[in-house]
Amino acid sequence: SDSHFPVPVSPDEVDLSQHYPRYFPADKGGEGEEPPPRIRFADVGCGFGGLLVGLSPLFPDTLMIGMELRDKVTEYVKERILALRASNPGHYDNISVVRTNSMKYIPNYFRKAQITKMFFLFPDPHFKEKNHRRRVISMQLLDEYAYVMEVGGIIYTITDVEELGEWMRSCLEKHPLFEAILEEEINADPVVKLLSTATEESQKVARNGGQTFHAIFRRISLQEE
Ligand code: SAM
Repeated sequence: SDSHFPVPVSPDEVDLSQHYPRYFPADKGGEGEEPPPRIRFADVGCGFGGLLVGLSPLFPDTLMIGMELRDKVTEYVKERILALRASNPGHYDNISVVRTNSMKYIPNYFRKAQITKMFFLFPDPHFKEKNHRRRVISMQLLDEYAYVMEVGGIIYTITDVEELGEWMRSCLEKHPLFEAILEEEINADPVVKLLSTATEESQKVARNGGQTFHAIFRRISLQEE
């Protein structure tokens, strides 16, 4: 259950030096130095980490984190990243993973406007009506995601479950802080190809010849903000 993993009380408590040691060497942090980098991409329900591994070389200077509820899966991703770093020195230093319940603790990890890309790839469908409240995209959770996202940031969702795809799209369409991105722009975004190829779940769907449904939206600002 949730009580078995530590939760930072605020984003300031997240120890980035443990996650990204190359970006936080022990002898750094003196006066007049550049501000430390922050996590910019979050892969929510990252599973076995294929997206992080695919994104890492595309954005080598961007810190990214996977958030995963299952303990063993999280441990696997940690080992996978350490092994990649060991066999490719100077690479894969910008990706890491944390075991957490993203439906409860997103604001404990990220400050307002910190995140520039958020990913929800093949989330669990929770088919029954009474379980829709367990879905990782909902109007309430979109409020939280909007809070931690920078204006102009992009939220990427994909699923092979048509009904869930419609649900995620309709939540995003209804939400005042998100706007659909035009298909031309989507097709030109190098990240989009990874959605249906990089993760373990996407590869399973592709092997079985399944269809996928994406909804890709931009965080926008309201006049009042
Ligand atoms: N995104 C990965 C992929 O495409 O291969 C994994 C997809 S898998 C179907 C859904 C993942 O979300 C599982 O690994 C599950 O443990 C994780 N998950 C479900 N609820 C979660 C939550 N509340 N917080 C974090 N991870 C969660």
